[in-house]
Amino acid sequence: MDGMNFSDKNQCPEADALVYDDGVKARVDHLYERVKDVVTPMEWPKFAPLVDAILRLKQERGATILAHNYMTPEIFNCVGDITGDSLKLAQVAAEADEDIILQAGVHFMAETAKILSPNKTVLIPDMDAGCSLASSITGEDVQRIKAAYPDLPIVTYVNTSADVKAWSDICCTSSNAVQVVESVARQWGVDTVIMIPDEYLAKNVAAQTDIKILTWKGSCEVHEMFTPQDIDDLRAAHPDAVILTHPECPPEVMARADFAGSTGAMAGYVKDKSPAKAILITECSMSDNVAVENPDVDFVKPCNLCPHMKRITLTGIYEALRDLKHEVEVDPVIAQKARASLQAMLDLPKATTPPSFETGKDAVAVPYVAV
Ligand code: SF4
Repeated sequence: MDGMNFSDKNQCPEADALVYDDGVKARVDHLYERVKDVVTPMEWPKFAPLVDAILRLKQERGATILAHNYMTPEIFNCVGDITGDSLKLAQVAAEADEDIILQAGVHFMAETAKILSPNKTVLIPDMDAGCSLASSITGEDVQRIKAAYPDLPIVTYVNTSADVKAWSDICCTSSNAVQVVESVARQWGVDTVIMIPDEYLAKNVAAQTDIKILTWKGSCEVHEMFTPQDIDDLRAAHPDAVILTHPECPPEVMARADFAGSTGAMAGYVKDKSPAKAILITECSMSDNVAVENPDVDFVKPCNLCPHMKRITLTGIYEALRDLKHEVEVDPVIAQKARASLQAMLDLPKATTPPSFETGKDAVAVPYVAV
């Protein structure tokens, strides 16, 4: 395939001109070994020149690439420097030497990176890489909730804009949501907490605690698509498989799973338990990336793609590093307030219970806030 040219669906002429030649092969073909079970031999000649160019630009620019768990495997495994869930990415990036952070993920993640690294340049390959959860609520909505419920703490999932975080009392992740809800209720001396914006995460948390929860009508368009019937069908077809779900799934889905937790908790479970067969009820690329780390586990991949995450491509990353675009800015006042909400979460004592949800729980009624 020497000297072969590859067209790319993103139609970047300069990226098209990159060639899978002997130099590229010598520099990056060793990376193919890592992804060979999830990237086909047909795809690699298209990816390799871009991987090579990105690795070179990264050095030239002094940039670090944050790759979320839902990035496609060639991004996650071949060009990502820091990998994981959104909060971990932003936290580790804040400690990195590089002054440029490129977020291979969606916009709210880039904002979180900017909030924790205000003096660094944060780039995202596509400004339109959004999120159905993040776009379900605005900072103004949170102010209206606060006005309506001045005596109740507002716990906000990190999958939100900086503006939403800024008006909240404390943030949570899908790993620590139960702990945050219980801690903040104790701190405020209340038995009810407002948890926004993911109604399914709120319902799943409510099933794990005695604290009453009010929520917002927001959801992840990827996880809400899974149905209890999907789980029953998968169980019937693969009785020997362990089924793991994300807590952004509807409660009836999570109740039927063997394990439920954040992306990090799911990856940790597979690594620790090494089941013979596993089914991850989450975004498609997550299974591919966990499969790379666990070649002995047989993965069944029920596939729901996040269209926002899939806006991030190797071509987009290449162009972003080449042109130093698109810079993500957060108003410094908003950033400071959002940082305080994140810090309130980080200041809580480390959880003593594992970051997972007990499955098999009955659903609990969780009303929406009345605003
Ligand atoms: S997977 Fe869901 S929560 Fe994550 S970016 Fe996509 S829509 Fe948002």
